[in-house]
Amino acid sequence: MSNAMVDFDYARPASLAEALRLLRGEPEAKVLAGGQSLLPTMKQRLARPTLLVDVQGLDAMRGISVTDTHVTIGAMTRHAEVASSARVAEALPALAHMARGIAHPQVRHMGTMGGSVAHNDPGADYPAAVLGLGATLHTDRRRIAADAFFTGLFGTALEPGELLLRIEYPRHQRSGYCKLPHPASGLVTTGAWVTRLPDGVRVAINGAAPCVFRHEEAERRLLARFDPASLDGFSQSPQGLNADFHAGVEYRAQLVMVALRRALAMALTH
Ligand SMILES: Cc1cc2nc3c(=O)[nH]c(=O)nc-3n(C[C@H](O)[C@H](O)[C@H](O)COP(=O)(O)OP(=O)(O)OC[C@H]3O[C@@H](n4cnc5c(N)ncnc54)[C@H](O)[C@@H]3O)c2cc1C
Repeated sequence: MSNAMVDFDYARPASLAEALRLLRGEPEAKVLAGGQSLLPTMKQRLARPTLLVDVQGLDAMRGISVTDTHVTIGAMTRHAEVASSARVAEALPALAHMARGIAHPQVRHMGTMGGSVAHNDPGADYPAAVLGLGATLHTDRRRIAADAFFTGLFGTALEPGELLLRIEYPRHQRSGYCKLPHPASGLVTTGAWVTRLPDGVRVAINGAAPCVFRHEEAERRLLARFDPASLDGFSQSPQGLNADFHAGVEYRAQLVMVALRRALAMALTH
């Protein structure tokens, strides 16, 4: 790896229009949110943007709004703000619980919901909430359904220069989340989000595979009966799961079942 300095420009636009103009004018530009993933990636020379567009000054991308039906969170809202919001805790307790469990205070006070979701690290927490609740992602040009957003390892439906503005979560009280974290970073080794909808069940698994995914077999079983007994006799196949230094495929397959049962237990008590 070369130790040579990497040159890039930096801009801190004061308006959304200016941010979009900068992003559209430079093909290798990147949005800088909390910098908690982007800056380490740049240090490792895995990303080499020619321009960083720092959107920290854009109040339009920040904040939490709660209605009877939805919780909408601006992309630039920090994890610490979600973790400490009494309105989120009341409307979507599992989402507040998730935010409180992200990393440590330094990361929670810099990292943003939009950055986490746009980066789509397999070890990130929020993608499980987005997929498990069936959220809608609002960008500068369109709305994207959660089911169409996550496309693979670090992959999303966002196009170059497209800015994620906010995420709209439907309120479903019966939701639960469990992550089995890596003890040092807090990143997800394997996690599960379970939501009971009026007419269905959504289960999202994160950390276990290259990309967060809906677990159709668990959804089918829990739709028949929203009860831990529905998972009896069912074991996760290790096929397609991640194997790394921290956990092999067989171990992760077991963690899927542990996380699933704990997330279900939380959904049943919230
Ligand atoms: C030590 C450590 C521990 C961590 N532990 C956890 C953990 O336990 N759980 C967890 O979920 N995460 C964890 N993280 C990740 C962290 O929570 C951040 O959320 C995450 O790094 C990205 O958010 P960010 O705001 O820092 O984005 P950045 O790093 O600034 O950006 C990440 C990527 O998203 C793009 N981007 C950012 N915002 C937007 C937007 N609005 N529209 C379009 N593209 C955008 C950027 O261009 C970049 O490509 C950890 C990070 C560290 C350093």
